[in-house]
Amino acid sequence: MALTAAASAREILTRLHDVMAKRLPAQSKLNSVVEIIGTVLDSEVCSIYLLREGLLELFATRGLAQEAVHVTKLALGEGLVGTIAKNVETLNLDEAATHPDFAYRPETGEDRFHSFAGVPIIRRERAVGVLAVQHVEPRRYADVEIEALQTVAMVLSELIANADLVDSTGGATTRLQPTAAAHAHGFKLVDGMAAGVAVFHQPRITIEHTVAEDVEVERHRVYAAFDKMRDQIERMASQAEFGGGGEHDEVLATYKMFAYDEGWSRRINEAIDSGLTAEAAIERVQQRTRQRMREIDDALLRDRMHDLEDLSNRLLRIVSGQLGTAAQMGLRHDSILIARNLGPAELLEYDRRRLKGVILEEGSLTAHVTIVARAMGIPVLGRVRDIRRLIAEGDMLLLDSGEESVFIRPSPAMIEVFEAKLVVSQKRRAAFAELRGEVPVTRDGHRVTVMINAGLRDDLAALDLTGADGIGLFRTEFQFLVSATLPQREAQRRLYKDVLDSAGERPVTFRTVDIGGDKALPYLNHDADGEEENPAMGWRALRLALDRDGLMKAQARALIEAGAGKTLNIMFPMVSEPWEFDAARELFEAQRGWLAARGKKLPTEIRYGAMLEVPALAEVLDLLLPRVDFLSIGTNDLTQFLFAADRAHPKLALRYDWLSPSILRFLKRVVDQAHAAGVPIAVCGEMGGRPLEAMALIGLGIDRLSITPAAVGPIKAMVRSLDRAPLIEAMQVWLADPGRSLREPLAAWAVEHSVELA
Ligand code: PEP
Ligand code: MG
Repeated sequence: MALTAAASAREILTRLHDVMAKRLPAQSKLNSVVEIIGTVLDSEVCSIYLLREGLLELFATRGLAQEAVHVTKLALGEGLVGTIAKNVETLNLDEAATHPDFAYRPETGEDRFHSFAGVPIIRRERAVGVLAVQHVEPRRYADVEIEALQTVAMVLSELIANADLVDSTGGATTRLQPTAAAHAHGFKLVDGMAAGVAVFHQPRITIEHTVAEDVEVERHRVYAAFDKMRDQIERMASQAEFGGGGEHDEVLATYKMFAYDEGWSRRINEAIDSGLTAEAAIERVQQRTRQRMREIDDALLRDRMHDLEDLSNRLLRIVSGQLGTAAQMGLRHDSILIARNLGPAELLEYDRRRLKGVILEEGSLTAHVTIVARAMGIPVLGRVRDIRRLIAEGDMLLLDSGEESVFIRPSPAMIEVFEAKLVVSQKRRAAFAELRGEVPVTRDGHRVTVMINAGLRDDLAALDLTGADGIGLFRTEFQFLVSATLPQREAQRRLYKDVLDSAGERPVTFRTVDIGGDKALPYLNHDADGEEENPAMGWRALRLALDRDGLMKAQARALIEAGAGKTLNIMFPMVSEPWEFDAARELFEAQRGWLAARGKKLPTEIRYGAMLEVPALAEVLDLLLPRVDFLSIGTNDLTQFLFAADRAHPKLALRYDWLSPSILRFLKRVVDQAHAAGVPIAVCGEMGGRPLEAMALIGLGIDRLSITPAAVGPIKAMVRSLDRAPLIEAMQVWLADPGRSLREPLAAWAVEHSVELA
């Protein structure tokens, strides 16, 4: 009996290496393998079962009846072998027959053997077979022997995946049956449906070679990779770019802890001692950790496991020299991207034609990546647990974020259901696209202005595609969010000019940067005073811009220059008191003066507006209205402040209704006051993009909406089927004596009056 796992494994591996190098048919190689393992581990029986057509087929054995080879087949979960494969777990039993899952197969003649140990043969985290040893003596195998078996199973996984193993006569093939369909749930971040293959943002490395030619060379490779990884982490910590990845300080701290963990590097070293290549050793240690973690039911530890997985993958990528993200390698098919989290810039690196959807392990509604994906029309499902266990690279996925679910390796029945639903939604979309040329006028002749929200250069195409009346909210901070460094004034000017040029005669309202809080910029050290407890209510938007006026001045100049010869509409976010509006306007006017003094061509007119998203502003509206040229209500922020309910909190997402009396009464008061003062008023929050909510807004007297481009068709259809005057009357009655929410009466009214609600 060999003394250490490393020695046993190494002896087996050295012999396996010779077998693998030979040009032999698959069957002969497997026959040699079971002999070698059986001899070294001093086991009467050694058998290899491989998953073929969904069943675990006995492919080779030493010790069991040879007639059973290719005859004995077990389903996943059937018998000890099936249990090992199904649960991807190791079994080590002194008395196999007493195990509840034991299933006796007479053709094998295995009744003589008492002890049994089996390990899964794993490929891409799934069991593709089982390696088992049996012994006449009823004794448990020692830990070192199990370790050796597991190491050997890794090598076998390479052997069976190797193309050389497929018999040229077409007999034995190890091509595997796809694993069963699965279903995962998450949280809807961006609505939509998408089909595509799973692509990991940080691609998994498929290990090509598992047996080392020279152990010392492999050891050196791992040392060098560790050094490089530690350097990378130190750099991440010192450079702001890390924040752009949407990762947190906490993660970074855990990365650091693991990167310098002696135990981890020692275990990898030991795996190398057993004769594995650097890649295989890293993977071997990771497999063992996964196994242990599966046995521990602790959410905190599981989170840690994610971090170690990330790091282990990083180490693998360094050691194998495959460093790029999936974006850099290019998408080859319609794809659904999978990541723990992403930064907006990382998302934008992907080929938009092929990127169909995104699944995140984390993610939140106001995360930058979500805002950008929504603008790009890419469905996003967030907070999907266990992604890595459920999904493998290249798996077919059907994402339906509206249903908050994803089908993994779907069955034909699932595909049918999905496709039927997709056809309906595409038809509906095509019908809406046809409304491009139609004007949004109510049946009783009231013109509603329907504009789009935009923020990226790519969004501009949506103007013509939707036939919208203009851009009611251009979120200028998007350019800042997708840049690694602060965009220079010239880059800002170019973008603004492109926006105005593509809009042509249609109006554009530029909102000055709304950064800070949850839209922190890594390169802007805005948070020198430490973490904000409540970033949404923190030092953000206009508050930050007025304090850091260098930023605002540069933006003002870029906007004024870009608007030369045109009307320029400027809107300030998060105005809380009228003096803030005055200060911002003065800053712009000073820049206009500065440019005029230098003989620059100026806009024909600059109109200044405020966003109403802080409830306090409504109390001083009489003071604000005479100062502004227009007002736009940001219902996303406004409602979170009205209800004191974080707009990004999933547990509160459905708690308060946009159609609650408090919101609608609040809006009604503001709308009436603005109308009385003759100030144009719009709504630019997400609420306006939902047909029933938009109908309610029209019932309050709102006639300007700025919405996400995908909603333009449905909103036009709603407007064109609506009689506005009776709705306004009905609204007044409901608001005077409302129930908990106006949703029901509004929906019933819509049905009764045949209003088209998508
Ligand atoms: C809002 O708050 O409603 C709004 C339109 O601005 P943002 O979503 O960018 O905060
Ligand atoms: Mg806002």
